[in-house]
Amino acid sequence: MGGRFAFRVFCVCFLFFSTAKLQAQIKVASFSTVLSEIAQKVGGKNVVVTSLIKPGQDPHEYQLTPGDLSAAAASDLVLLSGKGMEVSYLTNLRDALPKRVQVVAVGDQIPSLTKGADEGKEADKETTQDPHWWNSIAETEKATMVVRDAFTRLDGQHAADYQAGATAYLAVLKELDSWVKRKVAELPRNRRILVTSHDAFQYFAKDYGFQIDSIEGLTTDQEPSVSHVTALIAEIKKQGVKAVFLENTLNPKVSVEITRESGAKIGGSVYADGLGPGDGETYAGMFRHNVTTIVDALK
Ligand SMILES: [Zn+2]
Repeated sequence: MGGRFAFRVFCVCFLFFSTAKLQAQIKVASFSTVLSEIAQKVGGKNVVVTSLIKPGQDPHEYQLTPGDLSAAAASDLVLLSGKGMEVSYLTNLRDALPKRVQVVAVGDQIPSLTKGADEGKEADKETTQDPHWWNSIAETEKATMVVRDAFTRLDGQHAADYQAGATAYLAVLKELDSWVKRKVAELPRNRRILVTSHDAFQYFAKDYGFQIDSIEGLTTDQEPSVSHVTALIAEIKKQGVKAVFLENTLNPKVSVEITRESGAKIGGSVYADGLGPGDGETYAGMFRHNVTTIVDALK
């Protein structure tokens, strides 16, 4: 009898503790490498974060897999970059998720920069939101607060923990921004011209006074027109731009051709679309790598 009683107590305790653990941790499925880091830093031990888009993966080219869909459906909270980044699969994702799963498109809660959808065609004057908010530290601060609020809504008991996690992460971002300002100050205003493979740095340019010229548009799936590349080469020559930059997830072919024609050099590779292997494993590491690469090549 005694043994059996002890077994029952064990079972009840086991059930209690495993349920308590499940309730305490928010299961997060993230479709952004930057949001995965933010969620981990803000949520700490109270969350379990699954990154469905991996560091070094091009988020514009991402396709929803059955496995990722199952992971999202089993989560409590789905975090999206927003601002149109998920346009190719958002409807399918939303339709497949159970009602209890909360979806937060973080970027949609941050003010947007826009751009002509296809600037090459006069007829098409439609503007589109620029999804690359993470290339601004100020926007990333706002995203941190959006994530904190989402966690607090789901799990008010740990509101103080989420506030503390957000405060610590915001302090890291503030220090990073101070460093970036000092580093960018090494570059005279007239040399702050950033030529990249696709148009991912508008938010960065706004914060630090750069002019942007890119080979492709806001997404990475359209080949540039010959007339656009010709105009870009002329602009690089006219402004005396010393370097153009490759991106870690994109083919360097057109960029290399442009350097051959324009006399600019390849200034290195930057992380345009979120975290990646190497220096870009963390948000601060990614940002420092980008700024160091850009400033040192253009000086
Ligand atoms: Zn991009």
